[in-house]
Amino acid sequence: MYYFKYTDSTNSKIKYNNSTIDNYDLVSARYPVKLTDYYASLITSPDNPIGRQCLPHIRELEDEVQCPDPLTESSLSPVPGLIHRYPDRVVLLVSNRCPVYCRFCMRKRHVGNGDAPMAREALNRALQYINDHPAINDVILSGGDPLMLADESLTAVLDGIRAIPHVSVIRIGTRVPVTFPERITGELANLLKRYHPLYINTHFNHPDEITPASRFACGVLADAGIPLGNQTVLLKGVNDSVETMKRLMTGLLSLRVKPYYLHQMDLVKGTAHFRTSVTTGLKIIAGMRGHISGLAVPQYVIDLPGGKGKVALLPDDVEFNDTTLSIRTYTGERVSYEDIRETRE
Ligand SMILES: *Cc1c(COP(=O)(O)O)cnc(C)c1O
Ligand code: SF4
Repeated sequence: MYYFKYTDSTNSKIKYNNSTIDNYDLVSARYPVKLTDYYASLITSPDNPIGRQCLPHIRELEDEVQCPDPLTESSLSPVPGLIHRYPDRVVLLVSNRCPVYCRFCMRKRHVGNGDAPMAREALNRALQYINDHPAINDVILSGGDPLMLADESLTAVLDGIRAIPHVSVIRIGTRVPVTFPERITGELANLLKRYHPLYINTHFNHPDEITPASRFACGVLADAGIPLGNQTVLLKGVNDSVETMKRLMTGLLSLRVKPYYLHQMDLVKGTAHFRTSVTTGLKIIAGMRGHISGLAVPQYVIDLPGGKGKVALLPDDVEFNDTTLSIRTYTGERVSYEDIRETRE
C-alpha cells in the first residue's frame, strides 16, 4: 500500500510514499496542478495510468517544439470564449476550471488560468454571435469543464442557448463523471434534462477509471435520457495498447456510454511526452475492429494543425486493382470483392 496525500495548487505539496513529487513547484508554477480526493484515491503509484495523467512531470517543461495553440483556436474565435471552425457548430468555453488538471490537456494554455467561469458579458456576446448566425445548430459547451459551473450559472448558459430558435443540439464535454463523480447528482440530472436534445461526451482514458462511483454517475445521466458518448485521448504509457483499449471501450458500453472519438494527441506544448505515432493508433483500431462489438469501436481522429478540422483515419485494409478490390478482414484474411464500373447518365 502506498501513502498518498495531496493539497491543491495554492499549497504546492504532493506527497507520495512520504517523498515529495520531483519538481512539483517548478512544473505547477507553469501548469497548475489540481486533484480531487476521489481521483487521487485511484493513484497506486506515480507511474500508474491515473498518476501519469494527473501528476506533474518535468518533461512538461522540456517540450520546446510544440506550440500552445496548434489548432489556432484563438484565430477561429470571433468573440472571446467562442470557437467557430465549422459553419454549423461552435464550441463555447464556459469555464477554465476542471476538477483535475490533466497533464496532456489540449487547452493547456487556458485551463486553470485565473480559475474563472466565463464572465456574464462575454457570455452575452457569444450568445449574440450565435443568435446572429442562423447556420449554427449545434453548440458544444467545453472549457475547462462546464459542469464545474454552479447550477445557477449553468442554468443561465443553457437558458441563453435554448432562447435561440435555430440551435437544435446542445452538447456538453465533461470529464466530471471520471474525475469528480460526486458532482453528478439527481438534482444536476434534473436540471440538464430540461434542455433536451442535450448530449454529453465524457472523457475516460483508462479502464481503471471505470469504478462503482463513475458507473453510478453515468447511470444518473443516462437515466435522465441524456445520450452519453466518450472521447478518449491516445496517451503513451497510459492506454497505448490493444488490450487496454479493448477493456476500456467494452467497459464503457457497460456504463451505457458509446465510444465516439479516439483522439490522436494534438501537438500542444507541454504534452509531447504523451504522444504516440499514428501507426500505433491505427494498430489499436485494427485490433478492435471486428474483435469486439462494433458499438464499442470509436472513430480514430486527428485534429489537423492550423484549424483544418478533424479527419478520421482507418487502417489501410483495401487494395484497388481496377474494379477488383482486395480487402483484408479482421482476422487478416484477404478477400476479393468485385466492384461495378459506374456509367454516367
Ligand atoms: C471537435 C470540434 C467540433 C465538433 O466536431 P464533431 O466532429 O461534430 O464532434 C466543433 N468545433 C470545433 C472547434 C472542434 O474542435
Ligand atoms: S478535464 Fe479536459 S479540459 Fe480539463 S484539464 Fe482535463 S483534458 Fe483539459
